[in-house]
Amino acid sequence: MKKHRMLIGGQWVEPASGAWFESVNPFTAAPWALVPRGGKDDVDRAVAAAKAAFYDGEWRKLTATARGALLRRLGDIIAAEAPALAEIETTDNGKLIAEMRGQLNYVPQWFHYFGGLADKIEGRVIPIDKPGVFNFTREEPLGVVAAITPWNSPLLLAAWKLAPALAAGNTVVWKPSEFSSVSALVFGELFERAGFPPGVVNIVTGYGNEVGEPLITHGDVAKIAFTGGDRTGEHVYQLAARGIKRITLELGGKSANIVFDDADLDEAVKGVVSGIFAATGQTCIAGSRALIHRPIHEKFVERLLALARTARMGNPLDAATQVGPITTRPQYEKVLDYIRIAKDEGAVCRLGGTPANRPECGSGWFVEPTIFTGVQPGMRIAQEEVFGPVLSIIPFDTEEEAVRIANGTVYGLAAGVWTTSIRRALTMSERLEAGTVWVNTYRAVSYMSPFGGYKRSGIGRESGIEAIREYLQTKSVWIDIAGNAPNPFVMR
Ligand code: NAD
Repeated sequence: MKKHRMLIGGQWVEPASGAWFESVNPFTAAPWALVPRGGKDDVDRAVAAAKAAFYDGEWRKLTATARGALLRRLGDIIAAEAPALAEIETTDNGKLIAEMRGQLNYVPQWFHYFGGLADKIEGRVIPIDKPGVFNFTREEPLGVVAAITPWNSPLLLAAWKLAPALAAGNTVVWKPSEFSSVSALVFGELFERAGFPPGVVNIVTGYGNEVGEPLITHGDVAKIAFTGGDRTGEHVYQLAARGIKRITLELGGKSANIVFDDADLDEAVKGVVSGIFAATGQTCIAGSRALIHRPIHEKFVERLLALARTARMGNPLDAATQVGPITTRPQYEKVLDYIRIAKDEGAVCRLGGTPANRPECGSGWFVEPTIFTGVQPGMRIAQEEVFGPVLSIIPFDTEEEAVRIANGTVYGLAAGVWTTSIRRALTMSERLEAGTVWVNTYRAVSYMSPFGGYKRSGIGRESGIEAIREYLQTKSVWIDIAGNAPNPFVMR
């Protein structure tokens, strides 16, 4: 088993603890790599390296154009390494190779896009209301950014943070998930190859309480960019508040996929299936609630069941596999717990509802694609994030009712609407409380379009021009050009 090292100040180092932990392949349930168990001492070293790179090093002296060129070069290198990185991610987190290849082939675009944006960050000249004074703004980087990422789309979600943070001129300490650190450590080699000065990007692996907390509370960390569960996010927010730190939080969801009776049902069936069973439901934007217009409810459910039954399960490294394992053992148990809860609550299990004991699933943590009908909007299965292949179907009669049910959770990450009516598409997209609304499509994201949550799904936006603002602060500069000495006792 390969014993990995961490990236601090441009050096590949062993953890101060002298300890490593095993990373487990979810398909074989066997360990396949050893990941350094970082701790506070490593965090201190990494933040010091990032701080030095921010204040004293070559990085600060680069023009914005040169910084952008580095990011674009990195994008090109990632593109060349995408197949190898995708294979590592699949081995580490069990997500389908087809999905991870798609993600890795797309990751370079974040570095190309934000690399292009690096030298378009401009301040403003304010036509100030005071004669003889010139006032302008500068957009400046924040300093050391802590990036904390989850296991489900490890490098994609890291790119969403690193690309704008670096384009804005910050330096970074990145803590990947303890369940998917290997691709991060291999990815770390690419920064050096692209020509980034040492210390601009540092990677410390380990557990949330041992690495994440000292990182968030470190006095020299200016901003936290976090993606993960909302409970963890709440805790991270509290820790960051103590230091009055800037923060972006990309958290969970309970997204509604709403199908009206005027929809193209062939498309809608595919959209609802892909919304929940793609990525084995382990995606923040999983359309885990299907709200179905009552006139088509039964017909739609039958078609949904027919398509979901065809899902091929098995080795995630096999490109033909459509539903892979659950990434971690605790998550696997949590999914099965929610299935039990749904049954106890009186939901009707129409498909799956058990561990998948198929020969093609080996010894991995597989759960059968599961569909419940008869779900009431207030049930736990309709309110809480399962993060697995479990769909709750809820009927509705009117647009008003669909909006009420869709908005009736603490989350607001995404929603889908299936309709051929332009009026309905526009009305629903206005009334749904979600950071993303898809109409007649689902699970579309782009480096160009802002992504983030309403309500408990998060704070701030990633991707798109908005994202770079999350890594900048505005300074207002006043210059007296009239030479009028002001009255020292009166505010000017
Ligand atoms: P998680 O919250 O358990 O962990 C996320 C990261 O936080 C990991 O790196 C973890 O080590 C770290 N962490 C854990 N405890 C910490 C602590 N006390 N202090 C600091 N850091 C800590 O989430 P997960 O299980 O890895 O990922 C799944 C969750 O992420 C789901 O809820 C999903 O919806 C969410 N998610 C959201 C988005 C989005 O963009 N909105 C995208 C992907 C995943």
